[in-house]
Amino acid sequence: MGHPSINDRIETSRSAVPFLIGQGAATLKVRSAVVLLVAVCLSMMAIVIWETWNSRQYHLHDKEVAMSNLAQTLASQARASIKQADTLLFALVDRIENEGVAPAQIPRLQRLLSAERSELSQVHGLFVFDENGNWVANSNGAEVPGANNSDREYFAFHRDHPDRGPHIGPSIKSRSSGEWIMTVSRRINDPDGRFAGVALATIYLSHFLELYDSIDMGQNGVINLIANDASIVVRRPFNESEIGTSVAAGPLFTQLLPKGDSGTATVRSVVDGVERVVGFRRVEGYPLIVFAALNKDEVLAGWREESMLSAGIVASLLGFLGFLGYRLIRLMKQQNHVQSVMLDAQEKLLEVNRSLELLALEDALTGLSNRRQFDLFIQTEVGRARRSLTHLALLMIDVDHFKLFNDHYGHLAGDECLRNISAIITDNIKRPGDLAARYGGEEFAVVLPGTDYVGAFLVAEKIRQAVRQAGIEHGECPEGAVTVSVGVAAYDPASQAQPNDLVAAADKALYVAKASGRNMSVIAN
Ligand code: GH3
Ligand code: MG
Ligand code: MG
Repeated sequence: MGHPSINDRIETSRSAVPFLIGQGAATLKVRSAVVLLVAVCLSMMAIVIWETWNSRQYHLHDKEVAMSNLAQTLASQARASIKQADTLLFALVDRIENEGVAPAQIPRLQRLLSAERSELSQVHGLFVFDENGNWVANSNGAEVPGANNSDREYFAFHRDHPDRGPHIGPSIKSRSSGEWIMTVSRRINDPDGRFAGVALATIYLSHFLELYDSIDMGQNGVINLIANDASIVVRRPFNESEIGTSVAAGPLFTQLLPKGDSGTATVRSVVDGVERVVGFRRVEGYPLIVFAALNKDEVLAGWREESMLSAGIVASLLGFLGFLGYRLIRLMKQQNHVQSVMLDAQEKLLEVNRSLELLALEDALTGLSNRRQFDLFIQTEVGRARRSLTHLALLMIDVDHFKLFNDHYGHLAGDECLRNISAIITDNIKRPGDLAARYGGEEFAVVLPGTDYVGAFLVAEKIRQAVRQAGIEHGECPEGAVTVSVGVAAYDPASQAQPNDLVAAADKALYVAKASGRNMSVIAN
């Protein structure tokens, strides 16, 4: 069998065609595609989430910086406005403490206060009270008999505190004009250092509110001026009920001011519960804090819109990618399916080929090798014996009087008899290298590689006796049972003999066996 078999050729072509990859590799390819697709989608989502988060932090930080700058500007403005009024107070207190306020001087003092007040547009009034809270002089010029301000917070404060610095009390509604005003006051001492009264400057809250209202703080932004005692002095948006409210419990006093005199943060208000981005700063030289805050929701509104837009774009991209991936994977699966169908078909083809090949080399009646395989086999073995100088023997076995058997018992019984003899032959050749074949009709051939004529004769005799002992009835022959005759030929490796010569020698020996009375084995000479 020197030529490649059909199976071998199919196997070779299968490895040469890259399309016919294994089922496992195909599943792996689909899985890799799915993993790649999922990884790309997840990465895109991670990038967008990261970008969105960064942009949010940037928006907040940007507004925190803006609030910090605003707080600084407003603190300067508040300081300047208050300082102007306080400078007047300082001079006034100094004058009263040095010169006193004799009743004769009061008209002059009134005129002075009135003139000074008209110089400063933010100042609502300038007042002097004695140690009991009685009005001594005021910038409005009018005498207010019996008026007493000892009930005001600033009066009580100075009476109880020896401190000579300016004091800013809670904003109040003016008794003289009904307008909302901020109070800046200083203590007046008598020559012995005892409490002798209070000098007061009042500043219109509208002076601050007009400025605050002109700043774009969104719908829910807040600007507060807060006193050191945590009470609200001015608040934008203005709401009477909130003036004087304490924010001591709020984040400004509990978290932010303990850390420093200025700063920024994002905190929730105790006044209205709204979360805000804030900037704050103490007003230099005065017990005041400026607090500017934007509604966090409003700060993030632009960011939210931007994020929604980019999320929408990314979602559509992901959708498109997912769709493409789905199509690709489906295509791959279809391709794999086609491939596996082809592999199946190929497998079946190989199987069919194998059986065809077997059929081509096998005798249908007995299951032994057929004549074709015998020819190929003996060719190979003769060549091998010649090359390696080993023995080789051939038996030709012919059933005796088989024509008579057929005639007597019929062809079906004849076929059965041939099958029995085949089985007996197979049972009596034990080496894996031996080959039994149906040579034709009722004639069998046995090739015995590595066996000399003595060994071959022994095998021939074993087969002959086994057939006889099987006792297959044959009434038409002298033995009364089926017998075989065997011609034995051994190959001389030194000779140049061809397979045909070996067959001819065995045939000749067989002829001798027949002529000599049958049911015997004869060795070719
Ligand atoms: P002998 O060999 O002893 O000289 O006599 P024989 O009768 O066996 O000789 P011959 O070669 O003349 O007859 C062979 C017969 O074998 C002829 C045929 O009827 C029969 N035969 C050959 N092949 C088959 C087969 O496949 N089935 C059956 N049933 N009979 C077969
Ligand atoms: Mg014959
Ligand atoms: Mg015969």
